[in-house]
Amino acid sequence: MRKTFIAGNWKMNKTPSEAVAFAKELVKSLKDSDTKLMIAPSTAALAPVADVIKGSNIILGAQNMASVEDGAHTGETSVLMLKDLGVEAVILGHSERRAIYGESDELINAKVKLAIKHGLTAVFCIGETLEEREAGKAETVCFDQTEKGLKDVSAAEMDKVVIAYEPVWAIGTGKTASPEDAQAIHKAIRGKIEQLYSKEVAEKVIIQYGGSVKPSNVKDLMAQADIDGGLIGGASLEVESFTALANYNK
Ligand code: PEP
Repeated sequence: MRKTFIAGNWKMNKTPSEAVAFAKELVKSLKDSDTKLMIAPSTAALAPVADVIKGSNIILGAQNMASVEDGAHTGETSVLMLKDLGVEAVILGHSERRAIYGESDELINAKVKLAIKHGLTAVFCIGETLEEREAGKAETVCFDQTEKGLKDVSAAEMDKVVIAYEPVWAIGTGKTASPEDAQAIHKAIRGKIEQLYSKEVAEKVIIQYGGSVKPSNVKDLMAQADIDGGLIGGASLEVESFTALANYNK
């Protein structure tokens, strides 16, 4: 049985002091939630937020990390630094990193492997653009990103991978894939994992949906057989909406 995993990606929002105040509210408001919960503040806010959520039922996520452990990489953040701060998971391959910062499948794969090597969970994002969907290529694109992003990740290491299916056209746009359309792709991705690994790995892997998830649509999305959680941007930035998402099953 896969446990639902709800994660908030705060992106480049909230200063460290705002993030601390917000995290304090969330710790109180989410204390009775029985879903697995993660918040991913900006890199600048990781350390103070780590202090706030220590001992709570919320795990700390980062939004990105470098593809190498250390060295001359001005402006980058190392996996070793994230671990030292108490980060447990890292979002990798987000469509904004792919589109704005030109991250390739190969770079994302290096980051995924490095995160796993150091015991972090990789929240590995995949998803098609509107153009690709309209050309009937949604599945092919997701399969290709999956294969390349998980290259040389072993079946045992898949315990440290969460897949986030995020159709690019649904991110921050208010447009959500219908639960049925999202389910169809989730099922196909699980099939791809079975083909790459085994039925056992495919049954275990958590596949989150992301793209304008909000309190009004979360229940229908989570009711789908192959949707195991959500990676949430906009609606994770308010206590009330993130609490409603975390408690969608109550
Ligand atoms: C995201 O950033 O991963 C995301 C899904 O954003 P939003 O929920 O705002 O669409």
